[in-house]
Amino acid sequence: MVARFLADEAVAAQAAAWAQDYRLLAPVREGQAVVYRPWAPDMHPFLGRPPSSSAKQALLPQTEDLLTYTYRKDHTDLTRTEVFLAEPLPPEPTLVLGCRPCDARGRKLLDRVFLERGVKDPLYAAKRANTFFITLACERMENTCFCHWTGGGPTSEEGSDVMLFAVSGGFVARALTKTGEKLAAALPEATPSALQELEAKLASPVEPGPVPDLRAAPERFLALFDDLDFWTDQSARCLSCGVCTYLCPTCSCFNITDENFGLKGKRLRTWDTCMSALYTLEGSGHNPRVSRAHRLRNRVGHKFCYHPREFPAPDGARQPEVSCTGCGRCIKSCPVAVDIRRIVLDILEKGENK
Ligand code: SF4
Ligand code: SF4
Repeated sequence: MVARFLADEAVAAQAAAWAQDYRLLAPVREGQAVVYRPWAPDMHPFLGRPPSSSAKQALLPQTEDLLTYTYRKDHTDLTRTEVFLAEPLPPEPTLVLGCRPCDARGRKLLDRVFLERGVKDPLYAAKRANTFFITLACERMENTCFCHWTGGGPTSEEGSDVMLFAVSGGFVARALTKTGEKLAAALPEATPSALQELEAKLASPVEPGPVPDLRAAPERFLALFDDLDFWTDQSARCLSCGVCTYLCPTCSCFNITDENFGLKGKRLRTWDTCMSALYTLEGSGHNPRVSRAHRLRNRVGHKFCYHPREFPAPDGARQPEVSCTGCGRCIKSCPVAVDIRRIVLDILEKGENK
């Protein structure tokens, strides 16, 4: 497959060209943050550092309409009301520009929740079939990154349609899927010097540091499950703000609410967070996850115990299939520096002798 080249100065024009055919989400700077925004003609895509928000919004938006409904009274029989339902329009083809490998891998983990558990979520499935990722390989790891713990890496291709690799003056683009080939076909061929530079970079990859063996994590988490002192200690600083879950590429909890406008209304799906006390508050007033300790235990347990137990890794795999891509956003954005890596290491250590 021919490698292509996207010059630095051509990024905005090429994004505009892709935006003719796709709803394009591109990273832009807003204050200190880098966030995905729908394409606008005066936009300047910023590829200089990983986006602060996750690309999951392309597949699971913060809020989306599931359906609209209209009530109609039968004027000949006032005891009767009919309800008419309308599904939303099919999702537009969507292209995410400039996500990182950890975000692209998040698609696989969202698929498990929405497509692989017996009942397929039709809206998610329609978006998934029509959403494509142009991913930028990472040249360095930030001090919050740990993708190498979780089966990924700075150049991991999983979930991407095109991979961009930074070289002098721009990016070498490698298509990884049929759609990726179509997207990359708009670009000129990469020059031999750009390819040589890339090969030299790939020959001396980022050194990601030691990787803990996570295979024992599910069992050790369960050994510590009832140790509330351990979880109270781990969650002592947590403010229950939920930022860690909202920014996570793999967190998928949502709430469903109806908004009524007279005899019309719409049913909405909106992100929710298991870090909130309201998340499990039952109508009776009982709350099975009454404290921050219970809630943090659930978040960590879901990612490093329940998920790998439900989706076992293939025989011989070096790591379990955890529901975390190691993007590090929950660490970087937590206002009180709760570090999920530290919690996992403590589980591995303290759960061993339980
Ligand atoms: S971001 Fe930090 S403080 Fe906020 S809920 Fe998550 S762990 Fe708690
Ligand atoms: S748990 Fe934290 S590090 Fe893991 S994918 Fe979610 S935000 Fe990223």
